[in-house]
Amino acid sequence: MEKISIIVPCYNEEKALPLFYEELIKNIKDFPKNPEFEILFVNDGSKDNTLNIIKDLAKKNSEIKYISFSRNFGKEAAIYAGLENVTGDYVTLMDADLQDPPSLLKQMYEIIINEDYDAVGTRRINRKGEPIIRSFFAKLFYKLINKMTNFENVDGARDYVLMKKIVVDSIISLKEYNRYYKGLFSFVGFNVKWLEYKNMPRVAGQTKWSFWKLTKYALEGITAFSTAPLVFSSIIGLLFCIISFLLIIAIIFKTLILGDPTSGWPSLVCIIFMVSGIQLFSLGIIGQYLSKTYLEVKKRPIYIIKERSNNIS
Ligand code: UDP
Ligand code: MG
Repeated sequence: MEKISIIVPCYNEEKALPLFYEELIKNIKDFPKNPEFEILFVNDGSKDNTLNIIKDLAKKNSEIKYISFSRNFGKEAAIYAGLENVTGDYVTLMDADLQDPPSLLKQMYEIIINEDYDAVGTRRINRKGEPIIRSFFAKLFYKLINKMTNFENVDGARDYVLMKKIVVDSIISLKEYNRYYKGLFSFVGFNVKWLEYKNMPRVAGQTKWSFWKLTKYALEGITAFSTAPLVFSSIIGLLFCIISFLLIIAIIFKTLILGDPTSGWPSLVCIIFMVSGIQLFSLGIIGQYLSKTYLEVKKRPIYIIKERSNNIS
C-alpha cells in the first residue's frame, strides 16, 4: 500500500489548526488505490496553545505525528525537519491556515500516479486579499530572480507541492544552512506540473510575515541562488573607472590647450558623494555573501527538536 505524507509547519496556529484539521480529514477520503496517510505537524516554537492542540489531535488519530522545536526556527527549518522525518512514497507540504486548499490534494495525487510527473505543484493566479505593495514587490522579486538564476522560478508558486520520494531525497541532500525552499525545489529539477488556483485568504489568525521579514527572505533567495549582484558591482566599478579616465583627459585638454583653469567645487563634492555611495553599496553586496558564507561554515544545526511523538523513529 502506498503512503502519502502531509507536512504541516505550525507557528502560533491555535485558531487555525482545528479548522484546518477538520477540512483536511474531510478531504483525504476516497482516494484512488486507498493510500495510507501520515500527517506530520511541525511545531515551530509556538508561544500559544498550538502544541497542546496537536497532542490532542494525535491522541484521537494514529495517522498524526508531531515534532516540536526548542524555539522558533522559521518555516524553512520546519519544512526541512518535516522532509527529513516523513516516510511516505509521496510527500506534500501544507500551511495550517488553509491557504493551501486540501481539496486540491486528490487531483494532485491522481496526476502523479497516472501521468509521468515527479511532482505536482500549485500556483496562485492572483493575490487577492493581499496588500498591493506586497504583491508589487513579489512580482518584482520574481522578475529579478528569474533574470539572475538559470532555472525557472514560477511566480505565485506555493510551497504546496506533492512530490515523489526521490524529489524529497534530492532536496534534503542539499544541506545548506540558509534555506530557500522554493529555490531548492526549482534547483533539483524533475518533471513538475503546475495546477492553478485562486488565492484564498487565511482562515483564522494572522500572517507571520511582516514586510521586513519578506524583504529579508527575498534577499536570502537571491544571494542563495545567484552571484549576479557581485558581477553587477564589478561592472559598475569598471564603468566608473572608464568615465573618470575620460573626464581626466577632457580636463587636461581644457586646461592645457584651451587655457581654461578648472573650477567646480560643487561638482567635485557631488562626484565624491556618488562614488563613495557606490563603493559602500558594493561593499554591502560583498558583505551579504560574506555573512552567508560565515553562517554556512559554522555548520550549526538547522533546527533543534525538544520533543516528538512516539511514532517517529
Ligand atoms: N510558519 C512557521 N514558522 C514561522 C512562520 C510561519 O512554521 O516562523 C508556518 C505557519 O504556521 C503557516 C505557514 O508557515 O502554517 C505559512 O505562514 P503564514 O500563513 O503566516 O504565511 P503567508 O501565507 O502569510 O505567507
Ligand atoms: Mg498563510
